[in-house]
Amino acid sequence: MDLPIYLDHHATTPCDPRVVDAMLPFFSEQFGNPASLTHEYGRRAANAVEDARISIARFFGVQPNEIVFTSGATESNNIALNLVAPGEHLIVSAIEHKSVLVPARRHDVAILAPDRHGFIDPGKLRDAIRPNTRLVSIEAANGEIGTIQPVGEFAAICRERGVLYHSDITQAAGKIDLRLIDADFASFSAHKLYGPKGIGGLYVRRGVRVPPLTTGGGQERNIRPGTVNVPGVIGMAAAFRIRKEEMHDEAVRLTRLRDGLWERVTAEIPGTSVNGPRELRLPGNLNVSFDRIEADALIVAMRRFALSSGSACSSGERGPSPVLTAIGVPEPAALGSIRFGLGKSNTEEHISMLVDDLKRIVAKLREISAA
Ligand code: PMP
Repeated sequence: MDLPIYLDHHATTPCDPRVVDAMLPFFSEQFGNPASLTHEYGRRAANAVEDARISIARFFGVQPNEIVFTSGATESNNIALNLVAPGEHLIVSAIEHKSVLVPARRHDVAILAPDRHGFIDPGKLRDAIRPNTRLVSIEAANGEIGTIQPVGEFAAICRERGVLYHSDITQAAGKIDLRLIDADFASFSAHKLYGPKGIGGLYVRRGVRVPPLTTGGGQERNIRPGTVNVPGVIGMAAAFRIRKEEMHDEAVRLTRLRDGLWERVTAEIPGTSVNGPRELRLPGNLNVSFDRIEADALIVAMRRFALSSGSACSSGERGPSPVLTAIGVPEPAALGSIRFGLGKSNTEEHISMLVDDLKRIVAKLREISAA
């Protein structure tokens, strides 16, 4: 069977073949442990890891020693939130990834509600800060509805009030321009930008101390001890280098494809509405509610496409998406919503096929449910 057309690029992306090529020598020929500085094997690995750190830092316009390698954004988010001590207050948004929300709930936490397009109001953030607020964590862009937040404004408020600011930039990094320098911490993950899985990073602004989540050999400035995943780091750096070259043109192309899909779906299929904003939206993201449709049934029936209704980390859970609920989408509409995640491999032809299939299958499912 031919594999379906992939339209779930928020969940993960295929590793770019150029990334794989860059990684390959680091599995077997250049296998050294970058902490083994007594010999050439280790020194070569260490040099390669430091070169990778430099190119990732350059991508974000920060210093190499401000980049800490981790196993991915889940770990980076947990490390950043580990900074909050018992009794301290923190502020997050209601539409954060679970790897922020779950550790946040262990503390005294204010959860900011978004507006109906998913934006967090900087004024609400300002009002929520208390004398014992230690950290604010608000993402740069949402992986379900694509909303791009005013991260610079959040950072300015936090700085003014002496509160640390962390941003989960996993869905935004390599897709849109970001000024990391605004934040004190930022989490990212290579597999969202055509790099390998199981590798990511945490930007830690110079001078900010973070207690480690795990203890051990002291690697990565003791913020994330453990032998560094050398091929992963090399792959992530290659992925960022490629994104630097290709990100802008790709964003224009994906925005055009996405807007075409938006126009056609809403014009040609009755009973549809788009969740999330028109402007300030991730280029490849569209989230559509289909009236009188169960997303699960639609996803199964849309055999030619790989689709999802929301975050892969929450798939398998019953109930409406917490993100859609937070922006006020009523439960039946939330349960009939599909997230389309367009990426590098998608073409105009895919969009045409998608609209054709959606028209036919949505009509058929509605007919069955009305019978
Ligand atoms: N944050 C966001 C916004 C994400 O979309 C994801 C991945 N779904 C993560 C964190 C977790 O990243 P990782 O898979 O690298 O742990």
